[in-house]
Amino acid sequence: MYPAPFRYFRPGSLDQALTLLSELGESSRPLAGGQTLIPILKLRMDEPTDLVDIGRLPGLGSINIEDGIIHIGSLATHARIGRHAVAGMIPVLADCANGIADAQVRNRGTIGGSVSTADPSCDWPTLLHTLDADIVCQNAHGSRSVPIREFIADAYTTALGNAELVTGIRFKCPPENSGGSYIGFKKAAPAYPAAAAGIQITLAEGDVCSDVRLVLGAAGPRPVICGEAESILRGNTITRANLEKAAEAIIAESDPPSDIRGSSGFKRTMLHSLFMQAADIAINRARGNRVQGVHEYV
Ligand SMILES: Cc1cc2nc3c(=O)[nH]c(=O)nc-3n(C[C@H](O)[C@H](O)[C@H](O)COP(=O)(O)OP(=O)(O)OC[C@H]3O[C@@H](n4cnc5c(N)ncnc54)[C@H](O)[C@@H]3O)c2cc1C
Repeated sequence: MYPAPFRYFRPGSLDQALTLLSELGESSRPLAGGQTLIPILKLRMDEPTDLVDIGRLPGLGSINIEDGIIHIGSLATHARIGRHAVAGMIPVLADCANGIADAQVRNRGTIGGSVSTADPSCDWPTLLHTLDADIVCQNAHGSRSVPIREFIADAYTTALGNAELVTGIRFKCPPENSGGSYIGFKKAAPAYPAAAAGIQITLAEGDVCSDVRLVLGAAGPRPVICGEAESILRGNTITRANLEKAAEAIIAESDPPSDIRGSSGFKRTMLHSLFMQAADIAINRARGNRVQGVHEYV
């Protein structure tokens, strides 16, 4: 199907884009990589009057580290993040970026578009919860930083105001004795995950877990932070028995919906298994070992 008619604008700077969005009002939409918005327009699930193409705005695709803070510009594509030196330092970024869809989507789709969509199955929002990231938002009047757990308000709903853009993502570089892992379970490469588990764990001497963040994706309207499972691990020595206890808590804490990707019971079983695999990789990385992360396919 063809989209409903719309006007197309391509501003030359961020300031111009913000002014345009504010002038055009609520029936306008920013267009980044188009990998989510264009299919939605073609299905006529949304009929905006105006599209403001931000995809080529200068300066919003950069990735850098300054004073121990990683900054990823909102227009950084999944492919660019996956092959960037920062993903070599923090391999969980490569786990996430390289597992999204296929090469075509990864070359066009952006991290800013992913968090702005707030699709419960999107990979970046879940992973960014494990890193306690902040989302940098800007409108014509100024910018603000919103913690990801406040930014994703509900399924397909964010804290973004009218005429406000995501301009970047920021998080602290995890310490040396910390490791992360993110695994999604997918039917095929160009499909969203049926279930996903992310973990970031920090180890002290004697394999004691000094800090941990456990988050599930596609398990509810928003990424699910598993507080009970985290408290089973935090402050305790990592043992197989503790990990199993945490996995059981994860199953109790999650209530994934039954849908075309699987029944709730099937997804719970997958979450248990994904968590155990992700924990194994993250712990090894926290111990300083190089471990390859991969998604699970049917
Ligand atoms: C076949 C297919 C498979 C996919 N599989 C996966 C998958 O496995 N995992 C996954 O995570 N994703 C998947 N995706 C989605 C993909 O990652 C998209 O790239 C991403 O969700 C949206 O990014 P985009 O740059 O294309 O955004 P667009 O499509 O351009 O925009 C999406 C929405 O966000 C808004 N928006 C975009 N950028 C901004 C911004 N900077 N500030 C404010 N609002 C903004 C737009 O107005 C629109 O409402 C898949 C997509 C396709 C087509």
